[in-house]
Amino acid sequence: MRAMLLRRISDLAREKEPLELADIPVPVPADDEVLLEVSACGVCHTELDEIEGRTPPPHFPVVPGHEVIGKVVERGKACTLLDVGARVGVGWIHHSDGTEFENLSDAFCATGRDVNGGYAEYMTVPERYACQVPDAFGDLDAAPLLCAGAVGYRALRLTGLRDGEALGLTGFGGSGHLVLQYAKHLYPSSPIYVFARDADAQQFARELGANWSGDTTATPPAPCRAIIDTTPAWQPVLSALAVLEPGGRLVINAIRKEAGDVALMTSIRYEKHLWMEKEIKSVANVTARDVADSLAVAAAVPVCVEVETYPLEAANEALLSLRAGAIRGAKVLAIRH
Ligand SMILES: [Zn+2]
Repeated sequence: MRAMLLRRISDLAREKEPLELADIPVPVPADDEVLLEVSACGVCHTELDEIEGRTPPPHFPVVPGHEVIGKVVERGKACTLLDVGARVGVGWIHHSDGTEFENLSDAFCATGRDVNGGYAEYMTVPERYACQVPDAFGDLDAAPLLCAGAVGYRALRLTGLRDGEALGLTGFGGSGHLVLQYAKHLYPSSPIYVFARDADAQQFARELGANWSGDTTATPPAPCRAIIDTTPAWQPVLSALAVLEPGGRLVINAIRKEAGDVALMTSIRYEKHLWMEKEIKSVANVTARDVADSLAVAAAVPVCVEVETYPLEAANEALLSLRAGAIRGAKVLAIRH
């Protein structure tokens, strides 16, 4: 089968083709696994973190990709939940211990980092970590819901927001544009303020119903009860803390922060950024339940997913374009479509 392989850590400032197109054997499902014929796989910022070594794969080569939509074409002999032909999605969680905190467990195993993922024509996954995809979505539209949508939904839950309280979103790419729609559905009376560097992203946020949008460092019309940060940088952390209301919470939804502007954090001022019981919380991974619940919410909204598609062999181009920033919506590889 065709697959894009990551063979080593590389510096994307110099390396323009970090993944290599290869022909590798179709994987064989274990007893509790299904074999999926992959139709689409979303391209996520976490792939950049893997390639550049901020969250390195434990072994090479590995097939990246954790926003996978596919069709069950074979079942391991212990499978009982999914039939051949079922259309399913696989997110960042490939398998874990099945507990409420399986996202934080040592048993957590990430799709496309710890095991092969969806930048390929086929992949295997334990059937209980493959989630049925609502009919409301096509394969390409559904792919970004598996990561950006699922972890965004978890971030939204972790804000502890109540309807009517102001929500901020700093960074407005693949995850932000979904979270805004989930938030409007779940908290219809809450004003939503979007902070983004890019003028197009600010405009896009208003089109999707944000009550206000402005630059990362701008001051919103009112302080926020909670802010979700989906950026790889530090300026948004500092700026967000400054505009939280007393008792407010900043939820950082990023697997790793880049070192570029970390020196800014030395200008943090306790009385401005942390005093008055402000909190900072990170989001780590997702549970199988986050994936399933977020898909149900996405279908109930129903969310509008903006995607830009690339063929499998153009994965490097998609990754470099993501790294360059200025994205609207989400990038998706159309594989068997
Ligand atoms: Zn992701």
